[in-house]
Amino acid sequence: MEYAALASGSKGNCHAFSDGQRTLLVDAGITLKQIRLRLEAVGMDLASVGAVAISHEHSDHIRAVPILLRHTDCVFMITRETLAAVNAIHGIDIPPERLIPLRAGHAADWNGVRVLPFTTPHDAADPVAYRIEWGGFQAAVVTDLGHPTALVADHCSGLDLLALEANHDVQMLREGSYPPALKARILSRVGHLSNESMGELLAGVLGPRLRTVILAHLSEQNNDPALARLAAAEVLRDTPTVLHLARQEEPLLVAGQGQ
Ligand SMILES: [Zn+2]
Ligand SMILES: [Zn+2]
Repeated sequence: MEYAALASGSKGNCHAFSDGQRTLLVDAGITLKQIRLRLEAVGMDLASVGAVAISHEHSDHIRAVPILLRHTDCVFMITRETLAAVNAIHGIDIPPERLIPLRAGHAADWNGVRVLPFTTPHDAADPVAYRIEWGGFQAAVVTDLGHPTALVADHCSGLDLLALEANHDVQMLREGSYPPALKARILSRVGHLSNESMGELLAGVLGPRLRTVILAHLSEQNNDPALARLAAAEVLRDTPTVLHLARQEEPLLVAGQGQ
């Protein structure tokens, strides 16, 4: 089992899980060309992509959906409310035969892979994060949330791998150049997760199985990778958990997970 953060950040998000035969994407917020190139760069290939699980309708998570519809035969796993928003806001029509409809809190099956969407606090129609159970391997991709919730923490227990948002440093955001309304949105309880809140959430979900943490959706303007890393490293001190940072412009491969 391999995991790759193909791209992560406000300009586009795409995560991949693959056993070499089958690949599942979580979000498709970069171009199809970049998805293909970055899959190849980590030794995966586009032809093996059978499903894309969509977290919410913001452009940085769905950009490639129309072209994936035209140029691949993958299915889309998406909640009904997010599907409606993707259609209403972006004019994207996903036909029923290309859909696996989801409901937050209810696991769905894709080829024996258990895909469990769970609700996140974010300013979208029906935002979810995903817990992926593939063989005995347990992972979650948790980005775009304004604050840590008990429900999110519950779904992140007993994981082998966690990709977790570390969006901003609160002081950098406050003192930065973003317009006040945008700062307020990001800082709100349905905005994005600060380094500090990430550390709080991470501390609550540490477990003996957790081998890998990937910090994701870092803001290029309002965060410093060193600060995000420090916030997580403090929590992971004295644990064997390995810490990585997902990047906007280049893919990160975490190989050899689980069976
Ligand atoms: Zn979002
Ligand atoms: Zn986002």
